[in-house]
Amino acid sequence: MERYPKPMTVKILVSACLMGHAVRYDGQAKPLVHPALDRWREEGRLVTICPEMSAGMPVPRLPAEIEPGKTGAGVLSGAARVLESKGGDVTEEFRKAAENALALARETGCAYALLIDGSPSCGSGFIYDGSFTGSRLQGEGVTAALLRAKGIRVFSDKEIETLAALIDAA
Ligand code: SF4
Repeated sequence: MERYPKPMTVKILVSACLMGHAVRYDGQAKPLVHPALDRWREEGRLVTICPEMSAGMPVPRLPAEIEPGKTGAGVLSGAARVLESKGGDVTEEFRKAAENALALARETGCAYALLIDGSPSCGSGFIYDGSFTGSRLQGEGVTAALLRAKGIRVFSDKEIETLAALIDAA
């Protein structure tokens, strides 16, 4: 049976790479396969964005990490930079990426975000620690930090079941 969005359908902002778009720094996607995603797509709940591409960053692009020991909140407050693996400063692009994601979430009425973990933009549980060695640091990327600061509930791809339970209960 075909489903139609209800007027008050709760929307979910979602990372484009998680939806199968090849927008990551390495030109790859990181698709998540889950029945809840198929259902939400049918229900018209999903609003897809790659924050970094929305800020004009190319594909592929150099990997970037937040300065050692710092997280997305530090970037938003001006206490930390985002640096490419070759040292280029992309802090402003990452701030713009976060602002674009927030603006889209507000325009479209997203109360939730489902973002892929580990990214200096979309990470919500962990990011990489700025050493470009693959070492993880607990904390958020810049986009996840801004969305949370503005009241949007952010879930990582690993937390899709938790989000699904919330949506089902709404
Ligand atoms: S910014 Fe987010 S959506 Fe874009 S490639 Fe990185 S993790 Fe995926």
